[in-house]
Amino acid sequence: MAVKSVDSVVIGTGPAGEGAAMRLAKAGQRVAVVEAYTQVGGGCTHWGTIPSKALRHNIQLLADYRRNPLFQHTLDQVVIEFPDLLRAADSVITGQVRTLYSDYQRNRVEVLFGRARLVEPHEVEVLRPDGVVERLRASHIVIATGSRPYRPPDVDFSHPRVRDSDTLLRLSHTPRSVTIYGAGVIGCEYASILVSLGAKVNLVDTRDRLLSYLDDEITDALSYHLRQQGVVIRHDEAYATVEAGDDGVVLSCKSGKRFKTDVLLWANGRTGNTQGLGLEAIGLTPNGRGQLDVNQNFQTALPHIYAVGDVAGPPALASVGYDQGRFVGAHIAQGACDWSLIETIPAGIYTVPEISCVGRTERELTAAQVPYEVAHAHFKSIARAQITGHTVGMLKLLFHRETLEILGIHCFGEQASEIVHIGQAIMAQPGSANTLQYFAQTTFNYPTMAEAYRVAALNGLNRLF
Ligand SMILES: Cc1cc2nc3c(=O)[nH]c(=O)nc-3n(C[C@H](O)[C@H](O)[C@H](O)COP(=O)(O)OP(=O)(O)OC[C@H]3O[C@@H](n4cnc5c(N)ncnc54)[C@H](O)[C@@H]3O)c2cc1C
Repeated sequence: MAVKSVDSVVIGTGPAGEGAAMRLAKAGQRVAVVEAYTQVGGGCTHWGTIPSKALRHNIQLLADYRRNPLFQHTLDQVVIEFPDLLRAADSVITGQVRTLYSDYQRNRVEVLFGRARLVEPHEVEVLRPDGVVERLRASHIVIATGSRPYRPPDVDFSHPRVRDSDTLLRLSHTPRSVTIYGAGVIGCEYASILVSLGAKVNLVDTRDRLLSYLDDEITDALSYHLRQQGVVIRHDEAYATVEAGDDGVVLSCKSGKRFKTDVLLWANGRTGNTQGLGLEAIGLTPNGRGQLDVNQNFQTALPHIYAVGDVAGPPALASVGYDQGRFVGAHIAQGACDWSLIETIPAGIYTVPEISCVGRTERELTAAQVPYEVAHAHFKSIARAQITGHTVGMLKLLFHRETLEILGIHCFGEQASEIVHIGQAIMAQPGSANTLQYFAQTTFNYPTMAEAYRVAALNGLNRLF
């Protein structure tokens, strides 16, 4: 079989593979990317981030419309089902895919469709959809194959009532009731989406509080608002059985509780996509979560083979995967990367209300005995929030009470994931340039949500004595 030689092969075209391929191409390398799905973009574009966020946006539009007093007399005329809202996401996916194709083309990255498998340390075999097999030889290989929902063997995912985050997107109707097992980011986001659609939602958490790595005040607010919207939250549960039948699906927990609903959404963990990659043939062994262990440069046990994105483990975010890909591209092309990845990664959680934070929580600062103070701004007092009608929310800044250094930014409410970046930029400044005073002494456009920073800064400074 003829073997084609390139400088680097990237397996997977999600954000991590894209970041790596583009960076390598910019450095003048001959790069081939291999994609098993029918289009580029990865799980991120086709069944993860983009469809879920587009779906959420459309449901938000619908909720805003239903709330607006101007349109009350038209409400009866509008019947919108889950698949209609999903279809509205199609144009976003199409737009993203078009942009990606043109980027690959412009940068002369060869895109091969087919399933990739390592057959030798420097050789990748590609099984194309038409059955043809091709071989690529490369000095470096980047594995960016993503992850998939974890499916325990005793749960029957072939039953139409039993879904995970991938298959939920194929629902052909709006379910009347849903039980979500697993209250991580995906579980909480879908709880918000489905309850906004009018479904009865049980959110069954395996832990004692929602998203416990976030600041307590933020997760308290999330629990409160989810409950206000009608979500039933149960903590500290572990499933015993899942029984799906014609009239519903029953989740029975070890505590004796039972939840019967139209649909079960299983959102409890993810597994790295390493199966069928031929890793055993070259002496690489994935860990128990199907992920590849890597060093600080994302090199596997074979230094010319890198792993980035979800397949390399937490935090499993598109935002992070893309940067890891670019980092690795530079590392391969130049032998080192002239910038380092940030350690303080922001979290954006698209629940209703939206949540975003960066930096340390009150719990962490208290444990580390850092003398901090809190600065608050409530959206209900911000003019822009009153104008848009999105008054639920709060910006909270944690700062050092002596140096005024910003230590953490925690926000919930409309646009939280955008708002947090204003503070992130100041928090990332070196030395005394990271100061709460910046927000007290800066003129912001008015009315804007950015004004919340000024309100919070003044609130925080007033607390000092
Ligand atoms: C419901 C949901 C919502 C999310 N929301 C967010 C969010 O709001 N923000 C955020 O930052 N992250 C979010 N994420 C996470 C984000 O989608 C992932 O972190 C991101 O997609 C990981 O990128 P990746 O490049 O590692 O993998 P992926 O995007 O999964 O891409 C991997 C690609 O590799 C291909 N592949 C796999 N095996 C092979 C093979 N053997 N040969 C060839 N190709 C192969 C796959 O077909 C796929 O296209 C969400 C995830 C889910 C499931």
